[in-house]
Amino acid sequence: MTTIENNKCPNHVCDGQIKIKYFSRDLDYKKINFNCTTDTYKKPSVYECTKCKIIFSELIFKMDKNQIEKTYQDIEDDKYISQIKFKKYYFEKLFNKISRFISKDMNVLEIGAYYGVLGSVLKDKVKNYSGLELSTHSTNYAKNNFKLNIYNETIENHLKKNIKYDLIIMADVIEHFSDPFKVLSQINKLLNQNGKLILTTFNIDSLYAKITGRNYHWMIPFHMVFFSNKTLETFGKNNNLKLVKILNDPRYVSFGYLMEKLILIFPRLSFIFKFLSKIELLKNINVKVDLKDLKIYYFEKISN
Ligand SMILES: [Zn+2]
Repeated sequence: MTTIENNKCPNHVCDGQIKIKYFSRDLDYKKINFNCTTDTYKKPSVYECTKCKIIFSELIFKMDKNQIEKTYQDIEDDKYISQIKFKKYYFEKLFNKISRFISKDMNVLEIGAYYGVLGSVLKDKVKNYSGLELSTHSTNYAKNNFKLNIYNETIENHLKKNIKYDLIIMADVIEHFSDPFKVLSQINKLLNQNGKLILTTFNIDSLYAKITGRNYHWMIPFHMVFFSNKTLETFGKNNNLKLVKILNDPRYVSFGYLMEKLILIFPRLSFIFKFLSKIELLKNINVKVDLKDLKIYYFEKISN
């Protein structure tokens, strides 16, 4: 665990100094809910490196890697399970966008496979699909319901198996690692010579994120690092990965789920959303959410 006292950037290849970007006193990091459908909306303090411009949460300093891994191992996310129909619709749309980078002969690894929904979309479209997942509950769900090959282990342990992949996918996962810089170097080791990486995350430099600032709804406790197009390009390059393409990544959610989120994000308007969420007819309508802040990043390994 890095300490905040020395004011050093958590990015290993950077010797920059950090400065506070947003200060928060209300976060009790021992009580954070790490489910990806969490309703915890207390804000972490956020720092920025003056040199490499990486923006990150105070939790990088406050929680160690083992603590975070243990938290993810124990996740059981029933709300996510209730939304799988909508997740599947979104992942099919995502696949259509990235299908030009994917071919039938690829050996694919998804890091952070969660409940296996993206895996279920991918598995028949590639030679071989495998997932990596820490949560025992979601691993079992993905194995039983989607018949997927999921390794319930860390990237460190998976590296020991010496399997190489043509494509690695991470859907909304990179921001969860306490050390995403190390993860990119591990991905480089897991990839074949002409390997590709596709990841989705939010762009902290997007107009919407800039306008909302510290209230940006993805600035939540378990998001450790907030990337931008520029910082992702730099960190890719540091790890032998060239950022080739950035695509927009609109989401599709149920109307009911969207109302729940809006109540949390805009508590003062909650009476409107509560009223709307009571209308049975609307609850299961699929809604497109596109704030232009979510992006798909496609990287290719730089051949030596
Ligand atoms: Zn830095």
